[in-house]
Amino acid sequence: MEDYIVRSAIEGTQVIGFFARSTGLVEKAQAIHQTFPVATCALGRALTLVGIMGVSQKKVRRISLQIHCRGPLKEILVQSNQKGEVRGYVSQPMVILPPRKEGKINVEDGVGKGSQLLVMKDLGLKEPYLGSVEVQRGGIAYDLAYYFNRSEQLPSACSAGVYVAEGGEVLSAGGFIIHTPFGTPEEVITTLEQNLSRVGEVSKRLFQGETPEDLAEEVFASLPARVTGRESLQYHCYCSSDRARRALILLGKEELTKLLEEQGQGEVTCPFCNQKYLFDRRQLQEMILSAQDKSRRFKS
Ligand code: ZN
Repeated sequence: MEDYIVRSAIEGTQVIGFFARSTGLVEKAQAIHQTFPVATCALGRALTLVGIMGVSQKKVRRISLQIHCRGPLKEILVQSNQKGEVRGYVSQPMVILPPRKEGKINVEDGVGKGSQLLVMKDLGLKEPYLGSVEVQRGGIAYDLAYYFNRSEQLPSACSAGVYVAEGGEVLSAGGFIIHTPFGTPEEVITTLEQNLSRVGEVSKRLFQGETPEDLAEEVFASLPARVTGRESLQYHCYCSSDRARRALILLGKEELTKLLEEQGQGEVTCPFCNQKYLFDRRQLQEMILSAQDKSRRFKS
């Protein structure tokens, strides 16, 4: 079953919702990063939500969601674009924590209250848009909703979940983001809140065979909602040998020379997909020629 996002709007209002199935993309992330359940869930939730953010924001070329965790997961970075291409990593994929009540995987303590959640949007301008909030709970979806409310003044509801089997494999994953801008009629908000309180765990619903369209229908029940689009969603890394070469050049002349002398080659591993890029002696010498001399750059 392919992953995708359904866009649905409530007529006569500015309310819009995005409903995703992301099972395949989270499975792929787990295979690449060899994550244990806490990290599978945390990374999967973040990937699902950033995937939605990528397709939902028209002027944004690329969007990054980063969490500097106070908990043992340390760092989560996920990115996406308008095509629904998503990639990401968690710096500590093998964290083990005791489950929360009802046996739930403990993403909250993995991330940790008081962590920092940052959103960076590349709008094609000189400077990216940056927003950040302090993590309130650590389950990621609630914290992202808090970010929308606090940092973008856009009242929103977010949900994301990954259903993991005993053995650690991904059974299903998905989520949604609903924006309810200021000025939304009170009765619409009330109906939405009632609907949301009945929805429960998105990943379990998807596991039972429901689709993103079904989720949209339930969340927007008794409201004049209309599906207005369908977007694809997938794990896709856009690293390349050229990008890896540029990353190495950024080390500067001195570091590159040291690398050449000590190892005779340069190696860059993409943190998003583990692809290795190797550069031989001759290539390193070329890089040294085009690299800036860091010691000189800071002199007037
Ligand atoms: Zn890559």
